[in-house]
Amino acid sequence: MLQPAWRNWQTRRTQNPFPARECGFDPLRRQIFTVKLFQAAAEVFVPDGCPAAAALARTTHLGIGAHQDDLEFMAFHGVAECFGKTKHWFCGVTCTDGSGSSRSGVYAGLGDAEMADLRRAEQRAAAVAGDYGAMAQLAYTSPEARDPGDTRLREDLRGMLEATNPEVVYTHNLADKHPTHVAVARATIEALRSLPLEIHPQRVIGCEGWRDLDWLPDNEKVVMDVTGHEALAAKLSACFVSQIGGGKRYDLAVAGRRAAHATFSDPHSPDRAAQVIFGMDLTPLIKDAALDPGEYVDGMIDRFRAEVGRAIGEG
Ligand SMILES: [Zn+2]
Repeated sequence: MLQPAWRNWQTRRTQNPFPARECGFDPLRRQIFTVKLFQAAAEVFVPDGCPAAAALARTTHLGIGAHQDDLEFMAFHGVAECFGKTKHWFCGVTCTDGSGSSRSGVYAGLGDAEMADLRRAEQRAAAVAGDYGAMAQLAYTSPEARDPGDTRLREDLRGMLEATNPEVVYTHNLADKHPTHVAVARATIEALRSLPLEIHPQRVIGCEGWRDLDWLPDNEKVVMDVTGHEALAAKLSACFVSQIGGGKRYDLAVAGRRAAHATFSDPHSPDRAAQVIFGMDLTPLIKDAALDPGEYVDGMIDRFRAEVGRAIGEG
């Protein structure tokens, strides 16, 4: 059985006796491991230098996002749940290569390849800041990730799921308005459905990105309280200077959305939390492979419509 690997030598020396050298830790040279993934530029980065297979196998919380920075905003609950823990490890998967990222200011002159390098480095920096167990970047272009006829992304995700065998999976929600986000959610669902039942995760959560989930009926919301982790959230956001500094204040917007959810979720009670993320439960789609994802979301929208209708009728 795998021992939880030793990590973060400054804070955990006394908490975990697993010695650093046994996972090849070298504080001066963080290591990048290559595993069997389709794209030549794909990588698995392990911040503490633990061998890649063991680093992936220790995962408890897996986040699968389309773009560099998506995980830090949408799957932050998973990062926060694992940060500073010895038995919980977050593993991130970013599916695209960042070559299509928006650029402005000092980055305006960068070509696609240079932008991809910069975005990959930013995502690695976030993995270090968030103390991730491992960070995979699959390096698909956005059109490749969105192509339903291209099975490589699904196969890479299946490989990552087998290697990590997580308890919880975070991905995009199916009602997101960014087509690459929805494509990644679909690919994740298909990869999960292809796994043997015995390694299915306990829970699969579709998270907020380009559209929040305030509209979900309250009894269907997955409520993720991340109060008390504001400093970690700010530290992670600060890794993505090329986007936030380029005129998209995702850091403020995400913190504001979480604060708004905490206050507006209940009109009749004082706030019980300061920062809340909502999720869409995707677990039923994994338990029942015959359940159509479109119909599943239609059902939620129908129940939202009925809730609004009842309020108007009663008003
Ligand atoms: Zn995104």
